[in-house]
Amino acid sequence: MNLQLALLEKAARENRLAHLLLFHGGSASQQRDFALRLAQILNCSQPMLERPCQSCLACRKILSGNYPDFLWLKPLKTSIGIDQVLAWQQKVYLKHYEGNYKVSVIEHANAMTLPAANALLKVIEEPPERTVIILNAENAEGILPTIQSRAQLVYFPNLSEETWLKGLGEVDQQEAIQVLRLSGKDQNLATAILEHGVLILQDWVEKFRTAVEERDFLKLFALFPIDKHQAALYLQVMAVQAQEGIQKGTIHPSELLAIGKAADVLRQQVNPRLVIEVLALELFQQGGALCD
Ligand SMILES: [Zn+2]
Repeated sequence: MNLQLALLEKAARENRLAHLLLFHGGSASQQRDFALRLAQILNCSQPMLERPCQSCLACRKILSGNYPDFLWLKPLKTSIGIDQVLAWQQKVYLKHYEGNYKVSVIEHANAMTLPAANALLKVIEEPPERTVIILNAENAEGILPTIQSRAQLVYFPNLSEETWLKGLGEVDQQEAIQVLRLSGKDQNLATAILEHGVLILQDWVEKFRTAVEERDFLKLFALFPIDKHQAALYLQVMAVQAQEGIQKGTIHPSELLAIGKAADVLRQQVNPRLVIEVLALELFQQGGALCD
């Protein structure tokens, strides 16, 4: 375990953990496992140095997801909306059922809509006692700066390539390595691409490039419908490609800005088709395409 995580465990044992943690980097399952472990340490019934014991009632209930003072908040579909945060907020302010600490984990915190993030901010500004909120995020940049500045950032390093491959289970290893390259070595993105299907993704991005290059609306319209999750994935891959293109000098930085802006707008729960069309129009005007 790296030093930062070891220090966090120590802080949890000594009851001096920050009340807002922002996990970023690494893999979603790494973040989830460590959040569970912190919740166990905070609530385990054994003496400080033996926590988590994994066998007391609190430790077992937390692991099995039956601990009333341990709350998960996840995207319902592709985003975490304000209704979800408000419902969660009510539970956060209820008195503790049985635990020493109430622990909330917000998974895919990047997927919070702006109103949802603002509702969360209110809770953070008036933190209930003995409560720890953990935000799990692919990257810290996707989190509202006003939330980020109040959080202790905890970085999870990438897994070794070998461990990552093992964790994928039944997957063509050659393909996985190729996808990792496509994702700019971003293991979370690579996993998402594999789940989605790399051929479908490459085909779509290729057609989008052609439509932009040829300024061809018909080709552009043929790319729909896509859902929000797909659009977010495609934009991420296009951003990686644009970054690589900028380094090679084949792509102008303004393209990356346009893609980043589209990804931001998409997060605000706008129609994915509209976002992609606006992006295409902007790229038409820039006179560039997504390739050299
Ligand atoms: Zn225990």
